[in-house]
Amino acid sequence: MVTGGAGFIGSAVIRHLLHSHDCQVVNIDKLTYAGNLATTAPFQTNPKYHFEWSDVCDRPAMAGLFKKYQPKAIMHLAAESHVDRSIDDPRAFIQTNIVGTYNLLETARDFIAASRDATASGFRFHHVSTDEVFGTLGDEGLFTEDSSYQPNSPYAASKAAADHLVRAWHETFGLPVVLSNCCNNYGPCQHPEKFVPMIISRAVSMQSIPVYGTGDNVRDWLYVDDHAAALVKIMQHGVLGRSYNVGGHAQRTNLQVVKTVCGILDRECSGAMGKPYESLIKLVADRPGHDQRYAINASRVRNELGWAPRESFESGMIKTVAWYLHNRQWVEEVQQKNSRKGQCAGVVKRIGGTGCEA
Ligand code: NAD
Repeated sequence: MVTGGAGFIGSAVIRHLLHSHDCQVVNIDKLTYAGNLATTAPFQTNPKYHFEWSDVCDRPAMAGLFKKYQPKAIMHLAAESHVDRSIDDPRAFIQTNIVGTYNLLETARDFIAASRDATASGFRFHHVSTDEVFGTLGDEGLFTEDSSYQPNSPYAASKAAADHLVRAWHETFGLPVVLSNCCNNYGPCQHPEKFVPMIISRAVSMQSIPVYGTGDNVRDWLYVDDHAAALVKIMQHGVLGRSYNVGGHAQRTNLQVVKTVCGILDRECSGAMGKPYESLIKLVADRPGHDQRYAINASRVRNELGWAPRESFESGMIKTVAWYLHNRQWVEEVQQKNSRKGQCAGVVKRIGGTGCEA
């Protein structure tokens, strides 16, 4: 069972499971502005795939789905995930990320208590979280699994709260859980308002590319398929009650990310603009509470579970830019859906006048 499988990372997890594992996959997704059936099109007709349009905050619905499918594991990715939106209106973040996670924990607990068969006894609950729960780093150091929680944005605080609930359900009720905290992802099917897709779409339409502050905030970047492979390993083999940090060993400033994407576009579009794409970069007012640096020490997942990223930052970014250039229809479908539902006011405002970031 995967929640949030019509989103960016959840869909990559489902692709990975269907391609590399012999299992049935149930995708539970509410199809918010961030969830799109177009993203699931490549596997919609796979007989091993099942879609359930449902809200993780709806406890009776979740109980019904557990009863119907008798899952061996749940990988919980459904979330409100955009920091800018959490600053504009935190309500949905509290509801889905905290209350939704609580609902799933209770549903899983009831499921195990009610079932005496082997499926429920080997059941695992995997909570997929972010490195943003650890707050910000200075010039030195990396986040480990023992780093203290110091979330700074409403998004990060809601994910931190969910992490704490998951740990507590393990310690108090013995729920078999694993957790993972990952750095910034990039790759195909990421919502067009996020940082890397935004750079590509602004550049190809020759609009300015807004970058917060001086562009020197540092993030660790991981290609989404590498994250999906790590998540499946953690779900299957992670030690219960333990958390795993997942990172790409690829620290880059925001400005470096934009310049890398622009350099790839210069080559791919062979000078269509008549001048380098990076001339479109525009530094704009910083985001409130903007964390300076995130970076991950991923030695636990590497040493204990044998995971390592396959893509370098450069190879993954080349694949990503190529995907967006060849999938303009997907981008348009998502943008049309959003214009019907109404875009995030803050995102529109920021793209127009200030910055934008994952
Ligand atoms: P996303 O915004 O692309 O997708 C989220 C999905 O969850 C969407 O399909 C949406 O429809 C669904 N959803 C939202 N609310 C729901 C609800 N109440 N019930 C059911 N479905 C609901 O997000 P993403 O980038 O794919 O992130 C997935 C998970 O990974 C999140 O938990 C996020 O915190 C975590 N994460 C993301 C990143 C990143 O760089 N994107 C990094 C680390 C961790």
